[in-house]
Amino acid sequence: MSRKISKVLVANRGEIAIRIFRACTELDIRTVAIYSKEDTGSYHRYKADEAYLVGEGKKPIDAYLDIEGIIEIAKANGIDGIHPGYGFLSENKEFAERCREEGIIFIGPEEKHLDVFGDKVKARQAAIDANIPVIPGSDGPVNSLEEVKTFAEENGFPIIIKASMGGGGRGMRIVRSENSLAESFERAKSEAKAAFGKDEVYVEKFLDKPKHIEVQILGDYEGNLVHLYERDCSVQRRHQKVVEVAPSVSLTEELRHEICESAVSLMEHVGYVNAGTVEYLVTPSGEFYFIEVNPRVQVEHTITEMVTGIDIVQSQILIAQGFSLHSKQLGIPKQQDIYCHGYAIQSRVTTEDPANQFMPDTGKIMAYRSGGGFGVRLDAGNGYQGAVITPFYDSLLVKVSTWALSYEQAASKMLRNLKEFRIRGIKTNIAFLENVVTHQKFLSGDYDTSFIDTSSELFV
Ligand code: ADP
Repeated sequence: MSRKISKVLVANRGEIAIRIFRACTELDIRTVAIYSKEDTGSYHRYKADEAYLVGEGKKPIDAYLDIEGIIEIAKANGIDGIHPGYGFLSENKEFAERCREEGIIFIGPEEKHLDVFGDKVKARQAAIDANIPVIPGSDGPVNSLEEVKTFAEENGFPIIIKASMGGGGRGMRIVRSENSLAESFERAKSEAKAAFGKDEVYVEKFLDKPKHIEVQILGDYEGNLVHLYERDCSVQRRHQKVVEVAPSVSLTEELRHEICESAVSLMEHVGYVNAGTVEYLVTPSGEFYFIEVNPRVQVEHTITEMVTGIDIVQSQILIAQGFSLHSKQLGIPKQQDIYCHGYAIQSRVTTEDPANQFMPDTGKIMAYRSGGGFGVRLDAGNGYQGAVITPFYDSLLVKVSTWALSYEQAASKMLRNLKEFRIRGIKTNIAFLENVVTHQKFLSGDYDTSFIDTSSELFV
C-alpha cells in the first residue's frame, strides 16, 4: 500500500513548522503554512510555498486549534497531507478523524494510538498489559480524597497527583505530607479541568532523583518497528526539558539495551505506527519505570537525528504514505545495523529572562547573530533581526544542537555556539544555558531531574 502525498499543510507554527517544510521540500512535496492574525509577521509563514490565515476572530492559541478552519483550508487548496507538529492538535484524535473523513492523510499514528497515549491512565494500563514496569500508582483515576489518602498511607509520601490528560510539564502536583493533601487534590482537579477540559487525575509515588530517559521509536504499516536509541532529558526546570543529550552518558550498556527493548515491546504490543517516544524514569539504583508515550514528533528529535543519521520527520511523511521502514525511500537499516554515533546535545534557547523568574520577554529583536560551524544545527522560529516576539505563544526562539565524537567535545561545542550568539532587544536564557553546559554535574553526566532546582549557582 502506498498513497502519494503531494502537498502538506503544517498545522503548527514556529520552528517545528519550518522543520517540517524543509523535510517536505527535500521530498519534493509542496508546503502550506497556516498562521493566526497575531502571526502575520511570523517567519514560518514565509518559509512555505503557500500560506493561509486561520482562525479569524479566535484567540491566538485557538486559531491553531481551529479544526474546521484548518480542514476548510486544506480542502480548498488541494492538500492531501497534514502534519500536526508537536503541541496544538498533534495528539487530538478528533482532528486525525476529521482528516481521515476528508481523505487527507494525518501524518502521525493511528487514532487508536492517540486515544490510548493521549490519556496517561490508559497509557499506564497499556504498559501494564505489555508487562512494562510502571511507577507504583493508583489503579486508574482517583475519584475521592479517601482513595488518595489510602494510596499515601500504603505507599508513603511524597506522591504526585497527575492530570490524565496532562502534558508539557503541566497538570502535576507533588504532595509531601498529609497536611497539604486535601488542598492539593482539589487544586490538581480544578487545574486539570481548566487546562485540559477534564478533571480526571491519578496518583503515583514521587520518585526521588530519577533520570528522565526516553526512547525514540519508528514503526511502519507493515509491522516493522525499530528504536533509535535513547535521549537523556533529565535537565529540566519545573518538569520541562531545557537541555537534552543523546545518547545518555550514564546508562550502562546493559540498562540501555533493556530500556530500548522495553520501549520496542510496548509499541509492538499496541501495533504502533509512525514516530513516537516512550518515556521512562530511571532510579539511581538502575530500576526503570514507564511514565508515558508521546505519539508525535518531539522538540528534541534533532539530537537523535544527529547521532543516528535518520531523518525522523521525513520518515514520518514516508511512513504515512505507506512505505516500509526498510524501503529504498526511507532507507532505514534493520535494528542491528542502526548505529548511534558520537554524542549530540540540544539547548532550548527561549526568550525567558532568568533574572526575572524566567518570565517570557516580548518585543522586537534589534540584532540577531547566531553560531554555526561543524557539527552544529540550528532550528529557529522567529530568529532574525526585526522579528517581533509576541506574548501569545511558547517562548522557544531557537534550538541549538551540537554533535561531536565525544560528550565533552559536544558540550564544548555547545558552549562555543551559545557564546557566539548576539541577541539584542529581547532577553534570553543563553547565559543560564552556558552555566548548565559548563556545570561539573552536567559534564560528569551525573545529573538527575533535580539538577536545576538544586543548583542555585546556575542562576547567577
Ligand atoms: P508531561 O506529559 O507533562 O511531560 P511526564 O509524565 O512526562 O509529564 O513527566 C514530566 C516530568 O515530571 C518527568 O520527566 C519527571 O521529571 C517528573 N515526574 C513525573 N512523574 C514523576 C514521578 N512519579 N516521580 C518523580 N518525578 C516525576
